[in-house]
Amino acid sequence: MMAKSTITKCKNCGCRILVDESYFHNCLTLCDDCYLENVHRVITCNPLVIYSAKRFQDSDGIMAEDRLNEQQKTIYNYVKSKGKVT
Ligand SMILES: [Zn+2]
Repeated sequence: MMAKSTITKCKNCGCRILVDESYFHNCLTLCDDCYLENVHRVITCNPLVIYSAKRFQDSDGIMAEDRLNEQQKTIYNYVKSKGKVT
């Protein structure tokens, strides 16, 4: 008998996480740490990103998950690069 738990991958750090313990944020599957970090950064640094991400999600949310992930990755990297600015 195979006891296979559903495992997914954090899109940010790439670590393996249980789906039950994963977070879905801006169409990205994130682990606990990355989720908190991501949410914190987005809210703190760039409300505009939230807006554009939401808008993108609304227009294209159901299909093309891969394309969406690319888009979100781009947005995330942008936020990340700006994240250090005080
Ligand atoms: Zn992670």
